Amino acid sequence: MMPVARPPKWRYVRFIPDATYFKPVGVPLKELEEVVLAVEELEALRLKDIEGLEQEECAEKMNVSRPTFVRVINTARRKVAEALVKGYAIRIEGGNYQIVGTVRCGRCGHEWHQPETGIELACPKCLNPEQGRGGHRKGWRHRGNKLG
Ligand SMILES: [Zn+2]
Repeated sequence: MMPVARPPKWRYVRFIPDATYFKPVGVPLKELEEVVLAVEELEALRLKDIEGLEQEECAEKMNVSRPTFVRVINTARRKVAEALVKGYAIRIEGGNYQIVGTVRCGRCGHEWHQPETGIELACPKCLNPEQGRGGHRKGWRHRGNKLG
C-alpha cells in the first residue's frame, strides 16, 4: 500500500466540560504556568478512568485506533500529572475533535444525540451564554492544533 498523507481524523467526543480552567490557589497570575489539555484528551480520561471502559472500547468510541487512543490518554495523564506536581494551571481547550453521538453537557447534565454534521454546537438545553459572545468557548469543534 502506498503511504497516503491523510488529513488528521477528528476524534469523537461526547462530553462538553463545564469547568475548563483549573488553577492552584495562591499563585500570582504572572508566575502561573499552565498546561493545555485538548478536549479529546479529557474525553480519553473520562472514558478510560471515569467510565472504566477497555482501551478497545474507548478507541472505538473516539473513532481512533487503539495505539492512537493510548497515545492520547498518555499525553493527557502526563499533562494532568505535571500540573499537579509542578503547580500549573490546567486549561481545557482546542484539539482535534468533533462533538458527535450521545453527548452530555457538563453544565446541566442534559444528554442529546448529535449527528456528525460538523456544525458549531452548544447544549440545546442550557444554551451556554458564552455562545452569543463569539462562540461556545472557542472550538467545541476544532481541529488543526498540535497534540502535545
Ligand atoms: Zn447544558
